[in-house]
Amino acid sequence: MKIYNTLTKKVDEFVPNEEGKVKMYTCGPTVYHFAHIGNLRSYIMEDVLEKFLRFYGYDVTRVMNITDVGHLSSDGDTGEDKMLKGAKREKKTVLEIAEFYKDAFFSDCRKLNIKYPDIVEPATHCIDSFIEMVQGLLDKDYAYIADGNVYFDTSRVENYYALTGHNPEELMVGVRDDVTEDTSKKNKSDFVLWFTKSKFDDQELKWNSPWGVGYPGWHIECSAICMKHLGTKLDIHCGGVDNIFPHHTNEIAQSEAYTGEKWCNYWFHVHHLNDETGKMSKSKGDFLTVSLIESKGYNPIAYRFFCLQSHYRKPLVFSYPALDQAQATYEKLLRRIASLKDEGEIDTAFVEESKKQFIQVVGSDLNTALGITTIYNILKAKVSDKSKLEAINQIDYVLSLNLVEGAKAFSQQAPKEAENPQADIDPELKSKIEALIEERANAKKEKNFARADEIRAQLTEMGVTIKDTREGTTYTVNQ
Ligand code: AMP
Ligand code: ZN
Repeated sequence: MKIYNTLTKKVDEFVPNEEGKVKMYTCGPTVYHFAHIGNLRSYIMEDVLEKFLRFYGYDVTRVMNITDVGHLSSDGDTGEDKMLKGAKREKKTVLEIAEFYKDAFFSDCRKLNIKYPDIVEPATHCIDSFIEMVQGLLDKDYAYIADGNVYFDTSRVENYYALTGHNPEELMVGVRDDVTEDTSKKNKSDFVLWFTKSKFDDQELKWNSPWGVGYPGWHIECSAICMKHLGTKLDIHCGGVDNIFPHHTNEIAQSEAYTGEKWCNYWFHVHHLNDETGKMSKSKGDFLTVSLIESKGYNPIAYRFFCLQSHYRKPLVFSYPALDQAQATYEKLLRRIASLKDEGEIDTAFVEESKKQFIQVVGSDLNTALGITTIYNILKAKVSDKSKLEAINQIDYVLSLNLVEGAKAFSQQAPKEAENPQADIDPELKSKIEALIEERANAKKEKNFARADEIRAQLTEMGVTIKDTREGTTYTVNQ
């Protein structure tokens, strides 16, 4: 299996430290608000990676943290504490909103068929581990205390910018929001391991530490939680591209300073989902959530399909027409699968060959679009329907698009062709009518009622009467 590694900047053969076992870590959400569908693009692609590793035969242990303290609005340790900002917005305590948005996050994950990680660890449960690691870094002279805060000294690390490949002069601390320099730092790129000099007098969550009452920095949380559960050697670390700097860069610096050894071999980063105006952000007022797209009538799995159609290392632009297209293609695929009969013998050689083809393409830097093509190839093959269903079902463990179970349910809901009294109409006319009906449904979803009415008029002119039912739109062609 091959995967692009941000650390080496090339597609590498994946070889875990221990044969047959993979230790995987994922930066979890900052639970001050709902996740937007951009965040969830990262988690969908990481889910595919995890399931692919299992499908390939690895025994995977995946750990995810929950950031419920210490993440400031700039990744470079400036700005307001995101959790506190969320709590103020909703007039609740930090722990109340953490609990609420953690549950909301996993509820979105369930809707998108994202597997719950083996271990999920909130940062507020690991304060002792953070203190132990910060003390270790101070003992080794990799950290210093200034104005009450404990900082990591990046000048003590030889190749601090290994992950970004940048030269130090090119980068400022922090990539989001405005950056104001912290004058207590020895070097521009130093970062806070433990805050005591809180700028926020109303900081809710504080703990005793050898350096005074305070709270951990965001970066130390991931290193310490990862080591707590996976030991000092990690195989693969995941996140969105915005995490490369400074978050993952700082994780590497402090983890390797702490152990004195190389920490993580593979770094997997998912590129951003953007809307038509630019990068998605939770701070941008109304933002796109799973509930929002559901309320507009979309199936969350159609969004997963939309993500899988493109490569994780390319930015992806979200628009409703693009999601319509994905949902239409997905439903068409389900209809084709629903038409397979659960009959005949299973051709095991065919199933194995299909899995091999799937492993070949998806194992080549997670080419999920070609993984979907494997499903179309299976549908075209000259084997029993039962063999096709078996192959699709096995591969769908990785894609998680409900291809077999979803198809059954879908065929029960969708208007059945056999029930259409005029199933024998000219195929060309039939496809034209159905395309117009689909376009009308999309126009209605977009609240473009003028266009929807136009389409109805066009159909009437063609001699087609349509009827909107709870199950969808049916039609009759007047003779
Ligand atoms: P956060 O909750 O802000 O800590 O982000 C959770 C995850 O979503 C991180 O791995 C981010 O790198 C990732 N992420 C943030 N914005 C986007 C986006 N627009 N597209 C894809 N992933 C994103
Ligand atoms: Zn992290």
